[in-house]
Amino acid sequence: MQIPDQVTLIDHPLIQVRLTKLRNKDTPLVEFRSQLQQIAQLMTFELTRNFELRQVEVKTSHASAEGFEAARPLILVPILRAGIGMLDGILEVLPEAQIGHIGMVRNEETHLPESYYCKLPPKLAEAEILLIDPMLATGHSSVAAARQLRNAGAKRIRFICLVACPEGIAYFTTEHPDIPVYTAAIDSHLDDNAYIVPGLGDAGDRYFGT
Ligand code: URA
Repeated sequence: MQIPDQVTLIDHPLIQVRLTKLRNKDTPLVEFRSQLQQIAQLMTFELTRNFELRQVEVKTSHASAEGFEAARPLILVPILRAGIGMLDGILEVLPEAQIGHIGMVRNEETHLPESYYCKLPPKLAEAEILLIDPMLATGHSSVAAARQLRNAGAKRIRFICLVACPEGIAYFTTEHPDIPVYTAAIDSHLDDNAYIVPGLGDAGDRYFGT
């Protein structure tokens, strides 16, 4: 597929090797968790590349030095439950981040996502926000979660996932054309049960062992 400009594919070799382990259905729970966290950590370097900095001056033991600090507070928002799987890896790189949670469940009658939980830190309007969900499948949950963040005042949102598919990318980028999307892979398609093919199965089940 033609990748839209707002989508960044982070296919560093270190990530590709780890993603292959996640795809393998025989990879056990402990290794699945560890590899997913490592990928999240590696992706964070790329997706923070253009974060805004502010110039500061510090005193070394010999003189003054020009340096930088983050211009904005940082908020991580995993979509429950699978988003939790990438949280610790991102926190390794961004330990100062605040954390919000959005829980989404599919309404079995309408098939649309409904938010059952939302707890967000204050100062959303000033912050850089990373919305996290490993699988961009139909895009329904991530689109709804991004909308919920917006309605709560968020202005600068980035969406990070592990595996995306053309259907999810098309829906997300149509609904939120100004939210950058970062993914480690773009797979072939969605199957009839809304699983990504080839994908890696149900990310939440594999991470939590359910
Ligand atoms: N959610 C998952 O965990 N896996 C998929 O393939 C699609 C949605």
